[in-house]
Formats: sequence, C-alpha cells, structure tokens
Amino acid sequence: MPQQSPQTRMTKQRMVILEELRRVHTHPTADEIYGMVRQRLPRISLGTVYRNLDLLAESGDILKLESAGSQKRFDGNVTPHQHVRCTQCGRVGDVVEPVRVPDISAARAPGFLILSGRIEFEGVCEQCASRN
Ligand SMILES: [Zn+2]
Ligand SMILES: [Zn+2]
Repeated sequence: MPQQSPQTRMTKQRMVILEELRRVHTHPTADEIYGMVRQRLPRISLGTVYRNLDLLAESGDILKLESAGSQKRFDGNVTPHQHVRCTQCGRVGDVVEPVRVPDISAARAPGFLILSGRIEFEGVCEQCASRN
C-alpha cells in the first residue's frame, strides 16, 4: 500500500463505503449504499454516507452519475466506460461493447469552450421489458 498523506487518509467508514461500492456493478443510489454499509457498520447514519460519497467523488475514488429527474447513482469503477440507463426504472448498467466517442474537437457551441463529451445510452432493462 502506498503511503498516504494525513489529508487523504481514509476513515474506517469511508473505506467500508468504498469497498462496498467496488464490490457491486449495479450503480447503487446513496440509499442503497446505506443499506449495504449498514450490514457492516450498523450505527452509521445516512448523512455520513451522503457526506462520504461526496468526498469520494471529489477525490476521484468513485464516480457520481448525475441525471435529471432521477436519484444520483454511484460507481466504484472509475476507469472510463459508458452507461445505459433504463428509462422506466432508472437502473444503470455498463456498456460492455463501447462505441467510439465522436471527435469533440469538431463540436461548436456559441459562447462555450467545449472541454469534454460523453455518450450515455437510454434503454429498457430486462426486468422492465419482461413486465410489459
Ligand atoms: Zn428498468
Ligand atoms: Zn459503470
């Protein structure tokens, strides 16, 4: 293990949150992570989980997946990959055969300097598809 500076040293709580999030590939919400972490730290509060998720996202240890109109989800896999979101239940999955990101240097938007771009897919998950 590399030596960490005191500023970045992880608390036990933050470590458990990170471990639990890295264990799954379901892109859980903060509430779901709270449920997972509570199995190991029964006295942790939801606020502590929220605060640590924000800190972990800021430090780049996890990804925060923002989406208008649905709950934020989190990803313990920070290597670049694409996501698909179910338009019915909000479930998020990893795209295992990614498509090439278009050349963003060709993109123009008046009044903006474009720095990055990403592709996000929408679809219907198996569970929702089988309910229709
Ligand atoms: Zn669904
Ligand atoms: Zn992911």
